[in-house]
Amino acid sequence: MKKEKTRLLLGGHMSIAGGFYKAIEAGESIGCTAIQIFTRSNRQWKAKAIVQKDIDAFKEALKNSNIHSVVAHVPYLINIGSPVAKTRHASLAVLKEELKRCNVLGISYLVLHPGSHLGEGEEKCLDRIVKGLNSIFDGYTGKTILCLENMAGQGTNVGYTFEQLGYILKNIKNKKHIGVCFDTCHAFAAGYDFRKSEDYEAMWKEFAKKIGLRKLKVIHLNDSKRELGARVDRHEDIGEGKLGREAFRLLCNDQRFFNVPKILETPKPTLEKYAKNMEKIKRLLSEETKKLLNES
Ligand code: ZN
Ligand code: MN
Ligand code: MN
Repeated sequence: MKKEKTRLLLGGHMSIAGGFYKAIEAGESIGCTAIQIFTRSNRQWKAKAIVQKDIDAFKEALKNSNIHSVVAHVPYLINIGSPVAKTRHASLAVLKEELKRCNVLGISYLVLHPGSHLGEGEEKCLDRIVKGLNSIFDGYTGKTILCLENMAGQGTNVGYTFEQLGYILKNIKNKKHIGVCFDTCHAFAAGYDFRKSEDYEAMWKEFAKKIGLRKLKVIHLNDSKRELGARVDRHEDIGEGKLGREAFRLLCNDQRFFNVPKILETPKPTLEKYAKNMEKIKRLLSEETKKLLNES
């Protein structure tokens, strides 16, 4: 992955319909410098094998683009914290396969929802996740880093507090393979308020303490349809939700996170809507930020 200088790494989740390289073309067409993809249909267990032709076309398109970071997201079905052994084992198998697919494609980060306890309780679920991840990383030599995404705390999801994510990370033996993806909508829905400067700073202070800022590898930029602490995961266009523009201004001008890819997962995505949301983000950048990122 190209990663030489500090630049704005901004884009959206792109479709791979028609081939992996199509996601690069789509992102490139609206000026993305980072994109996210699913390496398979997001609601299916089975995946079509990746052949050399797919890899070549993808890498060639990437090389000739202005996209400097590609993130993948694990399909939504998988739950490595499930109390149901069959689901858990199938999920771990898919996760292992996903890591392989990402390595083959040269993708740096793979985002995973930690899991849901389905009534069994959070602590047990967190320990199942730890156990599963340790088994996945046993003998893993790939470069792709698995990133646990903070959740909104909807249903029986775990991983909606920095504490829970920190607990998982702390218990992973092979720490170099694991990172975190911070989703703005999820954090806000889970009760983290970062709409004002002091609250914003306090939140990252807590993140630093419980997780570590260096572990932050991916940011998902989504406004929230629902209010602070609602624990409902409903994304909204930037500036149109309850989180609001100021939170995004603080985040996108934060020099600590310049090198972290920022991915939009705004609702009913079309390229036009992504472009509009990217425009909104760019309008929030200060003169100093623009200068540092060569964005003027
Ligand atoms: Zn996600
Ligand atoms: Mn997300
Ligand atoms: Mn979400």
